[in-house]
Amino acid sequence: MEKVIFLEEGADLDALSSAYGLLLIYPESSIFKPKHLSRRASEVFRDFRHLFRIREDLPQEFDLILADTHHYEVYLEEFKGKVKDIIIYDHHPAHMAGVKGKVQQVGSTTTLVVEELMERNMDISPVSATLLSFGIYEDTGFLSYEGTTSRDARALAWLLEKGADLRIVRKYLSDTLSKEQIDMLSKHLQSIESLFFNGKKIVIATLKAEEYEPDLLRIIYDLREVRDSSALFVIVSAGYKTYVFGRSLRGELDVNKILEHFGGGGHTFASATKLEGAHAERVKSVLTSLLEGKRVALKVKEVMTSPPFVLHQDTGISDAILELSQRNFAGAPVVDDAGKLVGVIYKKSLVRALKHYPEGRVRDFMLEEFHTLTPEDFIWKAEEILSRYGEKLIPVVEGDRLVGVITRLDLLYSMRQQTAYLKAYERKIKLPPHIEEVGREIGIIAEGLGFKAYLVGGVVRDILLGKEVWDVDFVVEGDAIKVAELLAQKHKVEFHPFPEFGTAHVKVKGLKLELATTRRETYPHPGAYPLVEYASLREDLLRRDFTINAMAVSVNSQDFGTLIDYFGGLRDLKDRLIRVLHPLSFVEDPVRILRALRFAGRLGFKLSKSTERLLRSAVSLGAISSAPKGRIMNEVRLALREERFLEILELYRKYQILAEIFKGITWSPKLEKKLLRLRDIITWHKIEFPKEVMDYGWVYLLVLLEEMKEEEGMAFLRDISAPSWVRETYKIMKRGSKSTEKSLLEAKRNSEVYLSLKNKPLYFLLMLMTKENLKEKVKLYLEKLRFVKVNVEKFRGLSGRELGEAIEKEKMKIMDEALE
Ligand code: ATP
Ligand code: MG
Repeated sequence: MEKVIFLEEGADLDALSSAYGLLLIYPESSIFKPKHLSRRASEVFRDFRHLFRIREDLPQEFDLILADTHHYEVYLEEFKGKVKDIIIYDHHPAHMAGVKGKVQQVGSTTTLVVEELMERNMDISPVSATLLSFGIYEDTGFLSYEGTTSRDARALAWLLEKGADLRIVRKYLSDTLSKEQIDMLSKHLQSIESLFFNGKKIVIATLKAEEYEPDLLRIIYDLREVRDSSALFVIVSAGYKTYVFGRSLRGELDVNKILEHFGGGGHTFASATKLEGAHAERVKSVLTSLLEGKRVALKVKEVMTSPPFVLHQDTGISDAILELSQRNFAGAPVVDDAGKLVGVIYKKSLVRALKHYPEGRVRDFMLEEFHTLTPEDFIWKAEEILSRYGEKLIPVVEGDRLVGVITRLDLLYSMRQQTAYLKAYERKIKLPPHIEEVGREIGIIAEGLGFKAYLVGGVVRDILLGKEVWDVDFVVEGDAIKVAELLAQKHKVEFHPFPEFGTAHVKVKGLKLELATTRRETYPHPGAYPLVEYASLREDLLRRDFTINAMAVSVNSQDFGTLIDYFGGLRDLKDRLIRVLHPLSFVEDPVRILRALRFAGRLGFKLSKSTERLLRSAVSLGAISSAPKGRIMNEVRLALREERFLEILELYRKYQILAEIFKGITWSPKLEKKLLRLRDIITWHKIEFPKEVMDYGWVYLLVLLEEMKEEEGMAFLRDISAPSWVRETYKIMKRGSKSTEKSLLEAKRNSEVYLSLKNKPLYFLLMLMTKENLKEKVKLYLEKLRFVKVNVEKFRGLSGRELGEAIEKEKMKIMDEALE
C-alpha cells in the first residue's frame, strides 16, 4: 500500500526532519507537497528539496502518515474512503485508539523517528544525519529546553556518529536575527516585557498579525531577553482571535496550569490556547494577575447573578413594572409555564407600552431574539455582547435550563473588585490560632448566607504588632446580626444584637466579638454622633480614623488571611506613624485629635507631618471645645486606662489641648515632677503588690486635680463619670489631706504612722507618696504596718468593740517594739 506523509500548515523543522526520516523508514512513501512551512523549515526545504520524495496528487487508496500532529480527524474527513491505515509520530502525548506509529513524550518527534532508524540499524549518509538533527536541535533548544530527555540526546549522538555536520546546523539554526526577522518583529511586536514573580523572570510578549504566524513565535523564543527567563508567554492577536502561548524554559513554572484558566492545553512546559473576542491587553493583564497568584474572575459562572429573577410571560405590564422597580432591575428573562426561557423583557419597553396598552402582558413586549451565554463562557464574550449590541442583560443557560443572568452591573462589579484588589496592598498574614479558628467559622457562616466577612480595625493593627488581642471586631458585607446569631447558636452562647446599629456582640471562648455590618458614616455637624448607612468594606474602612486602624483581613475561605490595606496602614505601622485618611478628619470628628495622641503615646508613634499640621490647625480652630463634652470625656477616660498615660498627657500639653480638657489646671515643672514621681511609685506598687493592681489612671487624675478648687475638681470628675470611690478619695484629699499630712509628718513612732494612714484609700496613699517628705512613711505603712497580725487567742473572752480595740492596741505595741 502506498503511504503518504502530510505536513501540517506552518509545520516546523521538527515536522520536516521527522517527515524526512519517515521517507527513509518507509521506502514506499512520499510527502504530499507542503503548502506553507515555518520560516526555518522552508529555508531547509528550499535548499534540500532534491532529497525529499514529493508528490502532488493522491493515489486512490493510501496509508496516512502524520508527523508532529495528531489531528488526523481532519484528514479522515477530507479523504473519506481513501485512507486505509493511519500512522502517527508525535511527541505530544494523546490518547488515540486504533492508530499505528509512535506517540511518546520526548523532546522532539524526530527523536522517535531516529530511534526507529537506530533499531533497524540503518546506514544513513552524513547529509541525512544533518537533516535529521535539525528537528532535535530545534525542538529541544539544543537540548536545553524543559522536556528534553536522554533519548533525544542519544538519538542526536547517533546522528553525530553518522556524520551530522555542525557547521550546517549552525547555519540554519543560528540564533542571531536575520534582517528579515528583525523586520518581521518590528512590524508585529507590540510589546515585550520582563516581569518578576517570586524572583523568577517571566517574559510576556504581545504581537499583532493578520493571521497566526508560527515564525513569529520562533523568533521570540530566540531572543536573548527570553533565553535567560523562566518562562515565556506570547499573546498574538490575529483579527478576532487571540492566541496565547506559554513556554516554561526551566521547569520552574507550570505554564499549562496558568493557561488552563483560559481553556488551554498542553504540557507543563509548553501550552497554547485560542480565545475569541478577547483583547490582547486584557489577556495580558489577566495573565499578569494569574502569575501574581491572584484570583481573577474569567468565566461567566463566576460573575453571574444566580438564581436569576424571572418574569412569567403572562404577567401583566403594570405588575411586571412594579416587580422590576422594587428590585431596581432594568429587565429580566421571561419564562413560560414550564420555566423555559422564551424572551427578555426590559422595564423601559414596559413603561412605554403601559400608556397605550395598559392591559398588555409581558409576552407582547419581550424580545424573542437575544443572546445567551453558558456558565463556561469567558466574560469578555459577555462584555462584547453588552457593549456591542447595547443589551443590558444576558440570560445564562446550561442546556435548556436557565441558570443565571449577567448584567452590566455584574461585570462592572467584578471589574471594580479586580481593580480595587490591585490597589490594595495585598499580602497574607498569619492570625493567632484562637482568632483564626473563630475567623474561619465566621467566614463560613457569612458565605453560607452569601455575605463576606473581615477582621477589621484595631485588632488587625494589634495582630500586626504582635500584641495579644481579646476584643475582636469583624465587619460583614451583609447582615452582621444574622451571622452573629448563627455563630452564637453554634457555640450555644448568648448573643446581643443592636439592630439600630446593625451590630451584635457575642462571647466565644473568652473572646469578645463584635460583628458590624459594613457602613458609611456621615457627620451632620462636626463632632456629632454620625449618621449611619450600609456600604461596602472600602467605605467602611474609609470612615475610620487612622491608616493603621483602617486595615482589614479577609476571613472568607477563598482568600482567608489576605490583608486589605487601601490606605497604606502597613507602611505607616512599620514607619511608626499616625496618619489620618483625609484632611478634614479632625474637623469632622475632633475626638480623633485625642485618639491620635492616645495611640501616639501608647505605641510611641509620631504623627505624620501633614497629620501633625492638620491636628494643630483643628486645635487652633477650636475643634475641642465645639465637640460634645461627653465624647471628649469618654476619650480621656480611655487615655487614663493607658499604661503610658503620662506620655499621652505630655502630648496633650505639646499640642495645647491640656488646658482645654482640664480647665483650671496650670502646668508647672513642679506638677510635672510630681507626675514623674507618681509613675515610679506606680511601677513600684505594681511590682510589689501585683494582686492590688488597679486603674492607676485615676491616681494620675487625682494628682492633676489636686491644686484645683474642690467644686471644679468634683465637676470634672462628674463629667468624666469617675467611679464613686474616686470622688470619695478626692474629697478626702481636698478636705483631710492637710491634717493627714501634718500628723504623718509629726509621727515619730510606727504606731503613729499607722494611725494616720489606717483606713485611707489606697489611691490616696499612692498620691501621698508623691510628696518627698512623706514617701518613706507611707511606704513603711504599705509594706509592713498594714500587715501586722496578732494572736487572737490572747483575748479570749472579749468580743465586739472591746476585742477590736484590744487587737489594735496589741498591733501597735508589736509595731513599736518588734518592728524597727
Ligand atoms: P483600642 O486598642 O484602644 O481598642 P481600637 O483601634 O480598637 O483601639 P476602638 O475605639 O476600639 O479603637 O475603635 C475600633 C475601630 O473603630 C478603630 O480601630 C477605628 O478604625 C474606628 N474608630 C473608632 N473611633 C473612631 C473615630 N472617632 N473616627 C473614626 N474611626 C474610629
Ligand atoms: Mg478596640
